[in-house]
Amino acid sequence: MANRSLGIGLVGTGFMGRAHAIALRTVGSVFPEVAAPRLVHVADVCTERARNAAEALGFEQHGADWRALLSNPGVDAVSICTPNHLHHEMAHAALSAGKHVWCEKPLALDPDEAASLAATARDSGLTHLVGFNYIVNPLLATARTIVQCGEIGEPVGFSGRYFEDYMASPDVDWSWRCDRELAGSGALADLGSHLVHLLETLLGPVESVMAQLTTVIAERIDPATGEPRAVENEDIATTHARTVSGVPATLDISRVASGYKCGLSFDLFGTRGAIRFDQERMNELQVFNTGDRKGRDGFRRILSGPAHPDYAAFNPAPGHGLGYNDLKVIEARNFLRAAQTGEPAWPDFDAGLSVQRVMDAIERSAARGAWVQVPRTTD
Ligand code: NAD
Repeated sequence: MANRSLGIGLVGTGFMGRAHAIALRTVGSVFPEVAAPRLVHVADVCTERARNAAEALGFEQHGADWRALLSNPGVDAVSICTPNHLHHEMAHAALSAGKHVWCEKPLALDPDEAASLAATARDSGLTHLVGFNYIVNPLLATARTIVQCGEIGEPVGFSGRYFEDYMASPDVDWSWRCDRELAGSGALADLGSHLVHLLETLLGPVESVMAQLTTVIAERIDPATGEPRAVENEDIATTHARTVSGVPATLDISRVASGYKCGLSFDLFGTRGAIRFDQERMNELQVFNTGDRKGRDGFRRILSGPAHPDYAAFNPAPGHGLGYNDLKVIEARNFLRAAQTGEPAWPDFDAGLSVQRVMDAIERSAARGAWVQVPRTTD
């Protein structure tokens, strides 16, 4: 099985479908330890999009029916890049058909769906990975090591933000992201899922939350009808949280944060230092150590380079930088390597389930106006 080229089926050809396909086309040349995959079959409910994607991205077959893709014997692994409400059904069917699954975030619409998926994935013996791409940034792997090695002492506080402005204008059309049945929550599912995962990666599971959710723009024009249509989920999610290890955290999430394009950022304070990071400057990590000489202390700016995990596969020169799509290439390597070797992939569906439970607790807390515990059972 090791190093066998896997046949890929890709479902959904929008923003993420393209990002997965570009990564899958690139991964074999950047990371020769994995066999370059074959792009076998692409499906999109819109036949024209499926055809265009097949031509532009180099898939052998295309069609509108994702179930036909799962029946294709040439498909060993499936990328799921469709709106959130389809993840559960598609990932479940793919695992049941014996295919490895790389599923976009959020894993599902709610914890029940996510738990059933995580259980099916665990029992399947197949590879399962959730698309929390920011976490594979070589500098965030370094941040994790800094925290785990105690370089900044005991963690005492986390302030995280994920701000974007893609829905800041009232002129932005209604889309599936505004519909509870199709998206689940709003900014929380879309952006907050990444931030919750980042917090849990750096500081362990979240224990409890206290949140408020706000919808700023209540109606948008539905391009299908030209009529105003209700926005059914939140534009802003504001949360206080506490980790199981006792660290207090704040999570500020907004899709109407004017001026921010990909503002996933955090400050993490420890007893002997601090780190800070901003995805809009994704090739910089700022580190402060209390041991520095008085009067000479301050945040050090560390530029990404070959000393950080996976960077050297792209280029040998520090400070030359990686981009968003490179993160997807690293993620594709993680997925294919796990599928080819049988080793576990990370972040897997259990990580996706954990995030889903925190997001659900945030919604329940906002509805009740009270602190809510995050349930922690294995399935
Ligand atoms: P999109 O609207 O750009 O694309 C969705 C595609 O799915 C469309 O081409 C649509 O025609 C297709 N589709 C819808 N129903 C389908 C069906 N039944 N069968 C086949 N295809 C179908 O959406 P997007 O921005 O690419 O988001 C897709 C997923 O990726 C979402 O879950 C989203 O949360 C996630 N996402 C992740 C990131 C990230 O950074 N990891 C960024 C954006 C989106």
